[in-house]
Amino acid sequence: MLKAIRVHAPVSRSDLPRLTGLAAGTISQTTAELVARGYVVEARETEKRSGRPRTYLTIASEGPLVLGAVISTTNTLLITFVDLNGTIRSESELPFVGPGSIAELAERVAETIAQAIDASRFARERIEHVGIGVPALVDSVEGVVHFMATFEDTPYPFAAAVADRIGLPVTIEKGTTYKARAQHWHGAAQGHDTFTLVNVGLSLDSAAYSDGLPRVGVHGFGPELAHVRTGSPDDAELCYCGSRGCATTYASIYSIVLRGFGADAAQLDPRNEAEVEALFIELLDRACAGDSDARAVFDTAGAHLGQVLASYVKIADPGLILIAVPDMRFERVIQEAFSAALNHGILPPILKMTEIRFTLQEKNWHSLGTASLALEKS
Ligand SMILES: [Zn+2]
Repeated sequence: MLKAIRVHAPVSRSDLPRLTGLAAGTISQTTAELVARGYVVEARETEKRSGRPRTYLTIASEGPLVLGAVISTTNTLLITFVDLNGTIRSESELPFVGPGSIAELAERVAETIAQAIDASRFARERIEHVGIGVPALVDSVEGVVHFMATFEDTPYPFAAAVADRIGLPVTIEKGTTYKARAQHWHGAAQGHDTFTLVNVGLSLDSAAYSDGLPRVGVHGFGPELAHVRTGSPDDAELCYCGSRGCATTYASIYSIVLRGFGADAAQLDPRNEAEVEALFIELLDRACAGDSDARAVFDTAGAHLGQVLASYVKIADPGLILIAVPDMRFERVIQEAFSAALNHGILPPILKMTEIRFTLQEKNWHSLGTASLALEKS
C-alpha cells in the first residue's frame, strides 16, 4: 500500500482498492494505521463538488526515516538515511577498524551506525528501522550469518547483536538481495513484481523477487547461482566456497580478470574492487578492439553465464532476468557464446517467453536498496 501511495500520490482513498487489489475494508483499516504511525498524511478535498468530499493520501516526508547500511569488503560502512518516499536525506561513508571476528564486525558496525545517527540532524526516535547489507550467506528471516569468506565463527546472530547495541530494529540481508530491491523500487525492475537479478560483480551473485517481495527458501536463502557448477569438476578452478567449477569461477569480474591477465594478476587482492574493475575494463577494451585472447576469456564467461541461466530458467520460470554489469559493452562481447548456451540449454518456447535484459550497475543502489529494505520491514 505504501508503494501504491508513493507512486500515485496524492491518491484518493477510494482509488486504492483498484490500485492495490485490496478490499475497501482493509484499505480503511490500514490507512488509518499508517496515518496514526505518521507514515501517511491525509488531506481533505478542498474543491466543492457534489457527493462526499474525497480524502487524498500522500507519504509524510517529515515522518519516519529508515537507515540503510552497507558493509564493504574494505571495512567501510556506507550509511544512508531515507524518508518513506524513498528520497535520500543524507549519505555518508564511514571507515571502521578491521575486525578479527564476525562478533567484532557486528560490534564495529553497531558503533559506526550509532556514530552516524549522533552526527546526523535526525532524532533517533524518527528512525523506524535499520537495514544492513552484509557480504555473506545470510538468513534474512532469522538475522543469522551462515557463511562469510573472511571469518570462521559462523553461524552468528548478526542482526540481534547489532539491534541490542543500537536499540533499533535491524534486518540483515546479503548483497544481491538489496540490489534487487533497489531495481524493484528505483531501477529497471520498477513495475515488475516477479524477476531475478544476476549481478556480475567481484563474484557472480543473484537474488529473486516474487509478488513484490524477495523470494527465499525454507531457510531464508535466495538463489545462489554463483555456486551452481557449470564446469567439469576434474579440471575446473577451485572456488572460494571450496567446490570446483562454480559458475562464478568463469563469469565473475574477478575470475575474468584472473583468466585475462594470468600470472600478472596472481597477486591481485580480490577485495580491491577498484583495481579489479580497472583491469576488467582494460580487458573489455582489448576484447572490443578484437584481441583474440581477451575475446576468448569473454566467450568462456558468456558460455558459463548462459549455461547457469539456462538451468535456472528451467527450474524457476523467472519471467524477467536482469543482468547488472559494470559496463554495457560486456553484453556485446559475451553475446555470441551467451546466446548459444541459452539456445542450446532451454526449450525454445520457454526461452521465447523469458525476458533477459542487461542493465548498468548503479553505485548508489547499494544504499537505496538497504534503505528500501528498512521500508519493507517497517
Ligand atoms: Zn563456489
